[in-house]
Amino acid sequence: MRVLLSESQIAARLDELGHELSAAYRGRPLTVVGVLTGSLLFVADLMRKLDVPHQVGFLQASSYRTGTKAGTLSVNREYFPEITDRDVMLIDDIFDTGCTLSTLLELLQAARPRSLRTAVLLWKEGTQKVALQPDYFGFKIPNEFVVGYGLDHNQDYRHLPHIAVLEASDLA
Ligand code: 5GP
Ligand code: MG
Repeated sequence: MRVLLSESQIAARLDELGHELSAAYRGRPLTVVGVLTGSLLFVADLMRKLDVPHQVGFLQASSYRTGTKAGTLSVNREYFPEITDRDVMLIDDIFDTGCTLSTLLELLQAARPRSLRTAVLLWKEGTQKVALQPDYFGFKIPNEFVVGYGLDHNQDYRHLPHIAVLEASDLA
């Protein structure tokens, strides 16, 4: 495995994002909505960098069922957060085709939030299939399969403190 983003690079970028988002949402009823499970560490660390009061909710959605191949998106509606009239920041780990975020945005919009924006830690370049672009992002990365800092391969590697590229030899 090859380290793409170190723990300290991620922390430094989260400091910047925290400042940017705190300024943008000061005095507003912010709810951060994370997409489980991949965004877990990103959301938890970002919350600690926000110096404005905010609520948090999670949506459970999965598109990668096995290995590195995408499946259809399934969304668990059971824990749908209360977001009506709130300023919502939808947070995912990675923006790849964009299908996950655009589907979840439609679902959240139907609950009539006051505003709705998106933030992703990683933005894969050149793989988008939708016109949507995230409002905030941590890093643009090349089109490679990455793990760590919440991101998995068959549920493994989420615990890594850094982001690494999973290479063919790692899968053999
Ligand atoms: P999209 O719907 O934008 O194609 O994909 C977003 C979801 O696919 C992410 O939430 C993530 O779960 C998964 N995904 C996309 N690229 C990668 C990757 O390189 N590594 C991992 N672990 N998951 C990915
Ligand atoms: Mg995901």
